[in-house]
Amino acid sequence: MLLSKRISQISPSATLAITAKAKAMKAKGIDIIGFGAGEPDFDTPEHIKQAARRAIDEGFTKYTPSSGIKELKELICKKFKSDNNLEYLPDAILVSCGAKHSIFNAIFSLCDERDEVILPSPYWVSYPEMVKAAGAKLVVLEARQENNFKITPKQLAGVVTPKTKLLILNSPSNPTGCVYSKEELIAIAKILAENNIFCLSDEIYEKIIYDHQEHVSIASLDKKVKDLSIVVNGVSKTYSMTGWRIGYAAGPVRIIKAMANLQSHSTSNPSSISQKAAIAALSGSQKQVEMMVAEFKKRRDYMAEGLNKINGLSCLKPQGAFYVFVNISKILGRLYKARAVKDSFALAEAFLSGAQVAVVPGGAFGANDYLRLSYATSMKNIIEGLGRIEEFINKTLLPK
Ligand code: PMP
Repeated sequence: MLLSKRISQISPSATLAITAKAKAMKAKGIDIIGFGAGEPDFDTPEHIKQAARRAIDEGFTKYTPSSGIKELKELICKKFKSDNNLEYLPDAILVSCGAKHSIFNAIFSLCDERDEVILPSPYWVSYPEMVKAAGAKLVVLEARQENNFKITPKQLAGVVTPKTKLLILNSPSNPTGCVYSKEELIAIAKILAENNIFCLSDEIYEKIIYDHQEHVSIASLDKKVKDLSIVVNGVSKTYSMTGWRIGYAAGPVRIIKAMANLQSHSTSNPSSISQKAAIAALSGSQKQVEMMVAEFKKRRDYMAEGLNKINGLSCLKPQGAFYVFVNISKILGRLYKARAVKDSFALAEAFLSGAQVAVVPGGAFGANDYLRLSYATSMKNIIEGLGRIEEFINKTLLPK
């Protein structure tokens, strides 16, 4: 066998095929409305760009300590204290090449082949592949729409075994936009503490939250759960900095050190220039974040309402992030070009070729009765795209 056993198990991104097709259609001049975006459609704020230009001009263009520069780590500590009431010292912080990289480092530093990792579904696409690549056993726990796509303590307790090592939590969630309340987290934390289970808490959408909801970090609940938590966050979504590749993790020093060690032998430091930009992001004005979230909220309201008005579609109003997770179970099985549309992948294909609208199949997130639509695109596109979807469902997607 040419490839390693671990790497052979990883699926290529299921979303990639449809994104590639949408791109190819666009290149041919076909007018596609894209609801696939996983990143804010706003520009990186100017003061952040300026900090990067300054870093280049001042020659801050060499290797830095591989786990990140002290000034940035200190600011991250300050951010955890003021935003999350979490006290960390700089040696409990790792700065990585994006939040994804911090998550990868955490999973690879914690999980062995005999370990079980509990992953609530619908999940972000990369978690299961990272767990598989680490060789650990994936235990998928279905979070149901009736429960706002959140796992219950009872469900969690039901899948814990002596081999359970880690729970992956993502609040606010990609793809559902659900947000766990403090009370819900307390109940989950109790089970983690009783069974000594670590928690990887991916809080990358922390700031993109609506309706005066409060983001609570599970690590902030008490010392015991803090000692079991690796909190991941970053500047990608909050500051429209997806291309800059700066994420970070905080946790018990022994685990962070192991993650930093792994990083030191793989990527080394995240870009020196991007670290300076991240300092400007965390320490500078937060006005543009507020403006972005206000705009996202308007779009969310329009999109969720609009989708619920389309025959056969329904969705919950997401509480965070910038995605709507749409239930398609009522229209699955209908006919497009005389063939039954059997799952979310087929429906996404049909939307693309029949309505020129690109969406992401829920199957990619472990939930085949759904589609994910991102509202990180203009209101004009949202209005046009929903119109196209409605017309397609009403006129082209024929009853079984
Ligand atoms: N976690 C979740 C839930 C995400 O949606 C994403 C980005 N799609 C990431 C992590 C990765 O963020 P970054 O770009 O900082 O690596």
